[in-house]
Amino acid sequence: MSQHLFTVAGVEVDTRHHIGGARVASAETFTDVSPIDGGVLGEISRGTPAEAGAAVAAAKDAFPGWAATPRAERARLLRAIADGIDRRAEELAVVETADNGALLRSHRRGVMPRVAHNFRFFADRLLALDHEDFTTRGHTNHVTWDPAGPCVLITPWNAPLMLATWKVAPALAAGNTVVLKPAEWTPLTASLLADIAAEAGLPAGVLNVVQGYGSEIGDALTAHPDVRRISFTGSVPTARHIAASAAAHLTPLSLELGGKSPLLVFADADLDLAADLAVEQYDNAGQVCLAATRLLVEESVAEEFTRRFLARASRLRQGDPRDEATDIGPTIHPRQLERVDGFVRRALADGARALIGGHRRGDRYYAPTLLTDVRQDSEIVQEEVFGPVLTLQTFGDEDEAVRLANDTAYGLAATVATGDPDRAERVTARLVAGTVWVNCFFVRDLRAPFGGSRRSGIGREGGTWSFDFYCDLKNTVTAPREGQDHG
Ligand code: NAD
Repeated sequence: MSQHLFTVAGVEVDTRHHIGGARVASAETFTDVSPIDGGVLGEISRGTPAEAGAAVAAAKDAFPGWAATPRAERARLLRAIADGIDRRAEELAVVETADNGALLRSHRRGVMPRVAHNFRFFADRLLALDHEDFTTRGHTNHVTWDPAGPCVLITPWNAPLMLATWKVAPALAAGNTVVLKPAEWTPLTASLLADIAAEAGLPAGVLNVVQGYGSEIGDALTAHPDVRRISFTGSVPTARHIAASAAAHLTPLSLELGGKSPLLVFADADLDLAADLAVEQYDNAGQVCLAATRLLVEESVAEEFTRRFLARASRLRQGDPRDEATDIGPTIHPRQLERVDGFVRRALADGARALIGGHRRGDRYYAPTLLTDVRQDSEIVQEEVFGPVLTLQTFGDEDEAVRLANDTAYGLAATVATGDPDRAERVTARLVAGTVWVNCFFVRDLRAPFGGSRRSGIGREGGTWSFDFYCDLKNTVTAPREGQDHG
């Protein structure tokens, strides 16, 4: 077996970059380990700035051909990629779970079908993309979405293939070429995606995958003069760096960042539903940008809500994510576990009380945690933990609920549990958030805009908004022909 091919959960994965239609090895590698047991999954090509530059050059070379490819043919190829994902869905699911530790049953039932849907959805959208012409004093205005050029897409580890394809699909549909840089903790499914796209017949250089540490190859991608769009999902500090780097060429960028989202539980809510929604926030060991990690509960029902929440939370089974019965898997990396524990220890030292959890379970798991007696201006209420750690605060009335909900630097999402539709409408209108769920959570439709306000990001993707970002919009104004009315 080549030193670049590794068998992960029974699936062969090539750990080299994919540049210009060929596999390219770096001189050095980094080790990818599984969060499940710390076992080595593969030695991954550790990209250099030169390799990052080669990937952008390949994307630039392939761009004119891909941009000129008729929409119908681009859509056909996107659907062929979706079919390839469907065919290899089980392989993608087991590899993703080995690599990032999220539940196998979620990858099988929810994530991989959605990954394929990302391609089919944007194929359909591409074919429907249209703007009605209009006239100005007899002149015709015709709006087109022109391909922009090579795009750099940088993704995190918490939902690797889901978040990568949510960018790759619209970027390709738009007629752009792509350099995808997956997170160093979870590079494997991006490599499989490169294989699937090549098998589907995507021309060489249209989708390139370059692996490595952001600190080593990030700037070579984001400050590159030939890159026309940067789409980044990840943390705020990295976003700051990328925005500064992109400023060199004023490269347009889309940023999908962290959150500290609230779940507001009003006294008129169905408390069983509210408790279910709250416990759901432990999904993926809390490593979900949208997680409603701040439980804000109306005083009069706080005790009863807490009782129902704790009954559910104490039943959660934590363990091997490959086991169907498991509810919560491991934390992605011992470093992340340390970070999560640090937040909790500082909160406890600051006067917080753990109603459940508040500690590690061995060296890979963090116990689902609920902290109360927390101050609104404390770190644990203000900063994203990205672990299974929730806080509980109470409010007296609607005004206070909204004030607490909006009082962080983030604005990604919010969830409202109430039995009163008028209240839902009033409160929703006042919340600062890219997505608000009323009596539900995590219902996501690709037709909807997605993104965050304030420190949670810049821009919206989804539906036609994705094409607005990935394309250069052009309005062509044509004068009336001789003899036509100038109206
Ligand atoms: P991160 O910012 O550490 O890394 C994200 C990606 O950026 C990785 O691929 C990394 O290699 C790369 N990177 C690091 N330094 C770079 C640099 N200087 N230049 C270019 N790229 C660089 O984030 P993470 O820890 O992987 O992910 C967790 C964060 O992502 C959390 O804050 C979470 O809320 C956020 N997130 C947001 C969304 C959303 O849609 N809003 C979705 C998922 C995760």
